Amino acid sequence: MNRREFLRDTAALGLFGAAEAVEAQPRGLALLDGSRPKPVVIASHNGNYFKDGGKVTCVELAFAKLTRGVDVLDALLAGVNLVELDPTECYVGYGGLPNADGIVQLDASCMHGPKRRAGGVAALEGVRTPSLVAKAVMDLTDHHLLVGPGAQAFARNTGFKIEADLNTDISRKAWLEWKRKTDPNHYLDPNQRSARERKLFQHLAARGLLPCAKRCGTINCDGINAKGELAGVTSTSGLPFKIPGRVGDSPILGAGLYVEDAVGAVGSTGRGEANLFNLSSFLIVEHLRRGMHPKDAGLAALRRIRANTREHRLRKPNGEPNFNVTFYILNGRGEHAGVAMYGEDEDQRGYAGQTDTRFVLYSVCDENGPRNVRCDGLLPGTPQP
Ligand code: ASP
Repeated sequence: MNRREFLRDTAALGLFGAAEAVEAQPRGLALLDGSRPKPVVIASHNGNYFKDGGKVTCVELAFAKLTRGVDVLDALLAGVNLVELDPTECYVGYGGLPNADGIVQLDASCMHGPKRRAGGVAALEGVRTPSLVAKAVMDLTDHHLLVGPGAQAFARNTGFKIEADLNTDISRKAWLEWKRKTDPNHYLDPNQRSARERKLFQHLAARGLLPCAKRCGTINCDGINAKGELAGVTSTSGLPFKIPGRVGDSPILGAGLYVEDAVGAVGSTGRGEANLFNLSSFLIVEHLRRGMHPKDAGLAALRRIRANTREHRLRKPNGEPNFNVTFYILNGRGEHAGVAMYGEDEDQRGYAGQTDTRFVLYSVCDENGPRNVRCDGLLPGTPQP
């Protein structure tokens, strides 16, 4: 009999059940008085903007469903689907900016806290809602991640509609312009490439070829219901005009998303490579487990990224990281925070109709309704052009 079997059998006899429960239970976040957290949904800024032609945003829809008893992950997915399907959101799902070959390749993942289950897809082509394929990976397979043509075949076989092309007029025009302006060799010196791309994005925005001037985007959405059950979803088209096959942090558990029931749900937008290197979402959940407040846990991960950013091309002349990365953090008590390497928004253009575009924001919906909240920045200023 091994140790696990011993614990299982003795627990069944009521002998060591308490000891095992202590071992399995994450430290510290369940409310001590036994009360339930108030339900809340948080998301990246786009989660309280895009409506796919309807009346409500991602966080509103997810909150409404979650408070009406829909499963916590299903509620979040319904919200995220709005953003994936909205053709004017150029960084998520249908109409996401394509890779360097003009093909939209999508990444997504989801995690269900109470079920301890997760699924992800990467470099998936032809399905508008990659988050639902991630959910199918979670529900229908023994695996956590399917990629590329295999992910598409799985989606087809499980009933998803496969489309030949997920570009919209907006994303196709932007890609054509990118192709025209950049060296067709995708393996440019990274210094040259990022400088050229910054200029190109300004140019695309100035010519009205992008609905907003933001250089990157993704949706992350995390929620907790009245039973204290946590879940999270991240979905993205990844870096615009990326090298075909490049996978970011969004579908990688622990990088662009991590959820542990009773402890926390954390996701990210921004430079995915920083999260792949530092497994930041997992790191933040571990900090939450030790009792840190969401804001402090997020800032600690940002400090880790900052310390690990050594390459000259990724740093400003003052030595600080020359990119932004944002975390959306919800703990098992329903407390939340948004934190970013830079709390000020480098693009300063925001979404159409947005009045204050100076700051990086995140979306919240709770009993007080939907709203945008400022993220706390680790460093002053913004990345520099
Ligand atoms: N994190 C995403 C990626 O690296 C991009 C983004 O959020 O803008 O694929």
